[in-house]
Amino acid sequence: MKKRADAKGKGKPKKKKSFTGRRSKFCKFCVEKSTFIDYKDVKTLQGFTPERGKVLPRRTSGVCANHQRMLVESIKRARNIALLPFATD
Ligand SMILES: [Zn+2]
Repeated sequence: MKKRADAKGKGKPKKKKSFTGRRSKFCKFCVEKSTFIDYKDVKTLQGFTPERGKVLPRRTSGVCANHQRMLVESIKRARNIALLPFATD
């Protein structure tokens, strides 16, 4: 049997790059106008640290430079007081 390679309709590439959950294009913290990120707010921080305990890169999370810096700081703090895991691999 032959596979039709050119049996696509008129070129409309509908490929959505969507893996591992949601990606917001906006900075969540800017929306909330938060001037600091609470390191005790584990729920929020966990949203930026997928399984392995690493911090999501900015281009994935959509967080702006300023807040990313704060975020990383908070995550490190949270790790130190054992609220978040260090990289588990
Ligand atoms: Zn921001």
